[in-house]
Amino acid sequence: MYKQKISITINSGFEKEKLFDEFIILMESLCRTGQIMGGIESPYFSGNEIISYQTSLELNSLDTRYNDEWVNVRIKNLEERCDSKLNTEVIGQHIPFYKDVCACNSSDSYVLFTTYSNESSPIDCGTCGHPVPIYQIKGLTDKDRTDIESWEGDYVSCDNLNMGCNVGEKWAIKQMSDAKSQLSQFGRDICHRIAKATGVPTYYYLFNYRAISVAKDKSRKCPSCNGEWFLDEKWLGFYDFKCHKCQLVSALTSKS
Ligand SMILES: [Zn+2]
Ligand SMILES: [Zn+2]
Repeated sequence: MYKQKISITINSGFEKEKLFDEFIILMESLCRTGQIMGGIESPYFSGNEIISYQTSLELNSLDTRYNDEWVNVRIKNLEERCDSKLNTEVIGQHIPFYKDVCACNSSDSYVLFTTYSNESSPIDCGTCGHPVPIYQIKGLTDKDRTDIESWEGDYVSCDNLNMGCNVGEKWAIKQMSDAKSQLSQFGRDICHRIAKATGVPTYYYLFNYRAISVAKDKSRKCPSCNGEWFLDEKWLGFYDFKCHKCQLVSALTSKS
């Protein structure tokens, strides 16, 4: 991951507060395309400049070729109103969270996966296991990207309740582990849409924190079609269950 400095100089008499709001809307649009990761760090004024430092997955994540129509519209508005160009500059590498990005020419499959501490993309490559930046996935609509971001926020909220172990823990675990929960239905619908748009099968991960023996866990069937889904060998070094038909994956319980 990389730290990027994004800034613009205000050369016009346009109201500063409005420019600041527009700058933030641009940062939100860059989040949606996956060009910025892990939420937005607050921008600030320095003289007549708006400055912000954001995190990206790749060195070139802010290349204009990855912009969607909304990012382009927002940059255009901001540049016109500031009467100057937006500047982006890579200023460093984020070592502690660094994880290679998928470099496959084509992926056999994707997995929609995140956790409370994930700062990377919520989509992993099923061929190499590494994260795939959202902007690298062709064919997604603005609605798809908005829903991916929204699902990610909901999943992280549930996982935070789970990690907090106080309020709503059981409810949150059910949301993350039940194939028919509201969270899972939302995520599985997104997976279907990604698969349809890209032609790449997209798996949905079900959390597993059951108080059962490993033997009993291994004998569990796919919660959607009741078919066999236990794998003899872990997939991508993590998943123990995989149903090709339902495009669901899971891992052995971490509780027993
Ligand atoms: Zn890959
Ligand atoms: Zn199944």
